[in-house]
Parts: sequence; structure tokens; C-alpha cells
Amino acid sequence: MVEKDSRRLIPGTDTLLSHPRIQQAAQRLSPHVVKGLIRSAQQRARRGELAPEEVQSEVLAQLGSLRASSLQPVINATGVIVHTNLGRAPLSHSAREAVAEAAGYVDVEMDLSTGRRSRRGAEARRALIEACPHAEDALVVNNGAAALALATAALAGTGEVVISRGELVEIGAGFRLPDLLAATGARLREVGATNRTHLADYSAVAGEAAAVLKVHPSNYLIRGFTSSVPVADLAALCREHGLPLIVDVGSGLLVPDPLLPDEPDLSGALADGADLVIASGDKLLGGPQAGLLLGSASMIAALEKHPLARAMRVDKLTLAALEATLRGGQTPVQAALHADPEALRSRSADLATKVGGQVVAHEGRVGGGGGAEVPLPGWAVQLPDSAAAALRAADPAILTRTTGSVCLVDLRCVPQEQDDVVAETIRSVLASLPAEEGGRP
Ligand SMILES: *Cc1c(COP(=O)(O)O)cnc(C)c1O
Repeated sequence: MVEKDSRRLIPGTDTLLSHPRIQQAAQRLSPHVVKGLIRSAQQRARRGELAPEEVQSEVLAQLGSLRASSLQPVINATGVIVHTNLGRAPLSHSAREAVAEAAGYVDVEMDLSTGRRSRRGAEARRALIEACPHAEDALVVNNGAAALALATAALAGTGEVVISRGELVEIGAGFRLPDLLAATGARLREVGATNRTHLADYSAVAGEAAAVLKVHPSNYLIRGFTSSVPVADLAALCREHGLPLIVDVGSGLLVPDPLLPDEPDLSGALADGADLVIASGDKLLGGPQAGLLLGSASMIAALEKHPLARAMRVDKLTLAALEATLRGGQTPVQAALHADPEALRSRSADLATKVGGQVVAHEGRVGGGGGAEVPLPGWAVQLPDSAAAALRAADPAILTRTTGSVCLVDLRCVPQEQDDVVAETIRSVLASLPAEEGGRP
């Protein structure tokens, strides 16, 4: 404890709050945050950890580095495009602008020409329909899991949903599809075996079913003695029994991509006869987190009427980002997926020259439960293993691919205009590493 006299020298809260720079900072931070910082600096001074005359500068320093949101932009140098831990798809420039504009008052549910209420997010839905041939109507909910739950609840109720045992997948972080379906009140009717399911397995139970669900097992492959039933065959069976056919394609390709021949697309599933298709907005589509439902007008109308639809409604920011993703310029996901290996090699060589590393062949990945195991040929700059943690802690933070013995910097998902920042950051990080860890003295 500091002596009484010295404690009296600690500046009071009101004095500190009236300091012009603190007032300035208080405009971008909540009063309780500012007061909290002041209180903690005063307490440290009372405990003798800080001299009374240092309190003000300490508060100013803390305020200077504090932002209202703690989410930190990260440079993704892992080569994994849809990186779940890094927020999946980065938004396109058009989508970012749209989000910023939609942050204020917007006509999300109003027709400005008549002044009347309009269908919420009508243009985002129109953009989806335009981008996905064969879709009559569309609905957007919070994420793929919500879309699946809504479709099951609205179309199957407490009835039986038929699904192949080969498609009872866990998507990630313990999210198991069968648990989600069961939580809606529907009963699962599992058919077939893990590796093989035939049309006869479905037709044997179709008489008692309320809906048939086909799920793309996005994140794993069944190889060897396998078979599953194509959407077209399931569609014929469902028509015969008057059952809705729901197809969850997972990753959100609207139309086929030659680079990902095994990845199903929404348009193809509808063309093959699915009544309703489901996908995520922030995987291969490259947009905001969202669950997309497309299909026949009557199915979408049934989903919209279900009470759960309101609980899963997306906000204006999502609608703005989604529409701009569909109607704006190329998404970063598309750019990274179709990056020219030769251009990647040349950028990597430039980086290696600047930071002193070696260029090695390195395959990128789609990641995030899409394009399971499709290798994307490319290159990386190899750095000492110890650089990985230091780069993560750097400003800007750079996330690399680590193998346990080396740290690989893959530029596939790095916008080219950030190459110089990446080089600068790596250079200063390497210079600060101890020499025995590969740093340069
Ligand atoms: C990713 C995925 C989901 C879950 O979608 P979220 O948008 O993460 O909720 C559901 N089904 C499949 C097949 C998926 O790949």
C-alpha cells in the first residue's frame, strides 16, 4: 500500500474523464468500458504498482489499443479456403460494401414506391432464384443446420424421415445431423448399410414415410464397395408415393464446378427432381453465414408458414451480403479455388526472396465440409517451425500451415494486395526469433 499522501495524488475519475483525449476515446467506447479502465488504473496506483502521475498516461495507452470489437482480422496463409475457425468464407468487396450500407436504416421490408410493407429480403431471394436454374422460389435462414431443421419440421412434422445410414454424418464440432433431425420431433427411418444403400431399401419403407432426405456427406468419402441412390431415382420413388424429397447438398455450389466434379450442386439436384434443396451460404458460395432453401413454390410457402421460420429469420446484414455475393464481383472463395498455380508460384518466389525462405510444392484444400480431399495444386514458402506462433501473435496476425517440423506460408487465400504486408510481417517476425530457432541475428 502507498502512503496516504501519495494516494491523494492519484487523479480522480472526473478529472480523468474530462481529459480531451479520454473524451475523444469515449466517443468510440462505451462509458462503462472507459470507467472500467480508469478504475483499474487507479486501483493499480493504490496498490503501488503504478505511480500516481502515471495513471493518466496508462489510461490513455490502454484506450489507444482498445477497440469496441475484439474480433481481429487474420491473414489466412494456410491454403485452406473455407476455414471454419477463421469464419469460413471471407466476403467479396461488393458484399462488404452492402453490409456497411445495410447497417443503417434500409428498405428491407418496405416498397419505397408505395410506402407499403413488402416481402422481406425479396431481392436477395430473387438473386438466388436467378443464380440457380430450376428453382421456383427461395428462403434464407440463419445457417444450413437451421434450414435442415425447418425443412424437416415443416415437411415431415412428427412423421418418419427416411435417410440412408451412409448419410448420418457429423458435420463438425460435435454437430450430428441425426440429433438435429430428432430434435425437431421427426422420427428417423434409417435405411441401407453404411457403405451401400439401394433404391429397394427406400421403397420398402416409403409407404409409412413422411419425407425422404438425402444428405451429401461433405467432409468424408466412402471408398471401395459402395453405392448410394441418385437423386433422380429417389425423385421417381417420391413422386410415386407423394413424398417430398429434400436434398442437403451442404457446400452451396449453385451450378456445377469442373474443378469439383464430385460436389453436388443445387441446380443439378433440382433438375434431377428434388423438391427442396438445402445449402450453406458461407461455404463454396462464398457469402455470409446463411441456410439456403430452394425449390418448388409450394414447398417454400409451406416452410415460410411454419412458426420456426420466424425464429430462424436472417437479419438485414445477411440479406445484403447474400444478394451482393450473388450479384457482385468474384468472391474470394472463387478466386482462391481457381487460383492459377503458376501465379501462386511466382508470388511465392517473390515472398521467398524477400524473407529468405524456400519455395516448396503445397496443396491447398477447400476445407469447411466441401470438396472432401480434393487437392488444389499450389506452392508455399517454407519457414522454421517456430515462426508459426510468432506470426499468429503478429500484427496483422498471419495463420500458416504447420506440419510439426516446418511452417508453410501459402498465398492461395491471401489477396495479392496484401503480399507486401505479409512479407514485411514475416521479415520482422523472423528477425525477432532467437538465432537457434531460425531467426537471423
Ligand atoms: C455444413 C453442412 C451442414 C451445416 O450447415 P451450417 O451452415 O454449418 O449450419 C449441413 N449439412 C451438410 C451436408 C453440410 O455440409
